[in-house]
Amino acid sequence: MTALLEVEDLRVAYGKIEAVKGISFKVDAGEVVTLIGTNGAGKTTTLRTLSGLLKPVGGSIKFNGKPLRKYRADQIVAQGLAHSPEGRHIFPRMTIENNLRLGAYLRSDKAGIEKDINRAYELFPILGERKKQAAGTLSGGEQQMLAMGRALMSQPKLLMLDEPSMGLSPIMMQKIMATISELKANGTTILLVEQNAQAALSLADHGHVMEVGKIVLSGTGGDLLHDESVRKAYLGED
Ligand code: ATP
Repeated sequence: MTALLEVEDLRVAYGKIEAVKGISFKVDAGEVVTLIGTNGAGKTTTLRTLSGLLKPVGGSIKFNGKPLRKYRADQIVAQGLAHSPEGRHIFPRMTIENNLRLGAYLRSDKAGIEKDINRAYELFPILGERKKQAAGTLSGGEQQMLAMGRALMSQPKLLMLDEPSMGLSPIMMQKIMATISELKANGTTILLVEQNAQAALSLADHGHVMEVGKIVLSGTGGDLLHDESVRKAYLGED
């Protein structure tokens, strides 16, 4: 089976500073794969490169068997790769519903769009209850839900989530993680970047630990969760 996403020896630099120093990993259809690691490890840079916002200086990215490097960000969305960015980036003055509709801007199947908006409301009932309100009135966790809902509106083959639990209360975080499990159960393929290693590894099929631009350890979610070095470095154990 060919992987849905195949990243090989990817290198990304900001000027002279190499932030991603030759990483390789793959994501199979239906899997949740997580990248964990401390601040500055290069996780966000990796996602931004996969969605075409940054140009790599080396390596290859294949999505659905096709090289992605030559495409612009909008063309990459059209191919089925959606990104729910760190810090959310919702449009605060627009209504919640219109924020969701923006996620479907490349689609023209009206009935399908309405169906998916209703699906987003089923997944995140608070968004439906407040659909006519300005998105900026939502709490941080609710804005995170909106960002995820909006990314799903493009009907992605692969959903990339950058730190969905950032800044959330423990209850909100549990809710977001439960939603990710639900999406996985429905067959959505997910690449998840998280600082909360425990939560991410608990639901991931595979994980990769990044340190200063490199992948230093890879394994199944369960293996990494029980790995002594991971427990010490990322799960706060002595
Ligand atoms: P975090 O969890 O803190 O977001 P991360 O693993 O996502 O961390 P990146 O944001 O990808 O890490 O950053 C990787 C490295 O690249 C860091 O050293 C960071 O300072 C650097 N970096 C990120 N963005 C830029 C930029 N626009 N210009 C220069 N250096 C940058």
